[in-house]
Amino acid sequence: MAEHVVIIGSGPAGWSAAIYASRANLQPLLYEGAITEENRVQGTLPLGQLALTTEVENFAGFPAGQLAGFLNSALSQDRLQMLPPIDEAPHAVTGPELMELMRQQAVNFGTRVVTDDVVEVDLGQRPFQVKTREGETVATHTLIVATGARANYLGLPSEDKFKNRGVSACAVCDGALPRFRNRPLVVVGGGDSAVEEATYLTKYASVVHLVHRRDELRASQIMRQRALDNPKIDIVWNHVVDEVLGNDADGVTAVRVRNVHDDTTRELPCSGMFLSIGHTPNTQFLQGQLAMTGKGYIRWTTPFRTYTSVEGVFAAGDVADDYYRQAITSAGTGCMAALDAERYLAAQGL
Ligand code: NAP
Repeated sequence: MAEHVVIIGSGPAGWSAAIYASRANLQPLLYEGAITEENRVQGTLPLGQLALTTEVENFAGFPAGQLAGFLNSALSQDRLQMLPPIDEAPHAVTGPELMELMRQQAVNFGTRVVTDDVVEVDLGQRPFQVKTREGETVATHTLIVATGARANYLGLPSEDKFKNRGVSACAVCDGALPRFRNRPLVVVGGGDSAVEEATYLTKYASVVHLVHRRDELRASQIMRQRALDNPKIDIVWNHVVDEVLGNDADGVTAVRVRNVHDDTTRELPCSGMFLSIGHTPNTQFLQGQLAMTGKGYIRWTTPFRTYTSVEGVFAAGDVADDYYRQAITSAGTGCMAALDAERYLAAQGL
């Protein structure tokens, strides 16, 4: 017996798709990913990128407040144990808390969750075949791919050490944290995102050093000009970050940058380093079975639909969106994918 809907991915897109599909009585099966060292290192553990962030202040419906009572009443005991201790004081919902709430909501409506990775799919036959890391193969009439993307990091051990203690890949998520206020910050990258993040961070920082490895920004003309015109942005041309410096008590205190032409180094004191050197979509398991963009994102084939190049396969969230990349937009497209899958099944009489 084939499944009606299989969902791959456990970020906001996956859980929103699951909530809608389960409420439509489609009994979705959701693969949330495996808990492995490989997934930890590359940032693809269950619950996705939001599980790697701190407070989420921009998800509509979650103003800061006394959330402990709510979380304790909404989440099951076994899942509460997965969370760091919940702050009893008023606070904005954290990424991990928000993801646990979404997961719980999907489970409450009957979503079946499997803690495993999908490593291979066969979209050439119907029903589609989905194969997991543990060797299970499942057949399904529709597939929702919501595997997200992972931020690229430089790959320095010191960078890894200070993740969440000054090193971040999301200015919008973390920029307003007290540790970054009125302090110098570093943004690495030279594209539109780097300029956007640097500009955003000037609201909080005393100065933003934009460290770029060349002497020209990749960003579009208008963004380039914005960076050059902003008195709080200091562009550090032709430099790369060699090392993130800091200590256990304070987290990041500086970065050491190296001039790519003469190899001279210097330290830039800062309380945070934001990476903005691109993202990598989690699409390797699809092995070219769906149409992708040049950067490996799944291509949505129809405006305002989550359709992909294979009928019956839908894509939601960051795996198909390299532009907005927000939790709320991701959740929105997850809902759309579930509705698209439901209508497709109805049209097929399945
Ligand atoms: P991007 O355009 O690919 O830029 C990545 C930047 O990171 C480049 O400047 C690159 O340097 C640098 N970089 C890559 N690997 C690096 C490394 N290992 N060490 C140091 N620097 C490294 O990515 P993006 O800025 O995230 O933008 C992605 C897409 O979204 C683009 O199409 C962009 O136009 C779009 N976007 C648009 C807007 C907007 O219009 N408002 C905002 C955000 C994003 P090089 O330049 O030397 O390659």
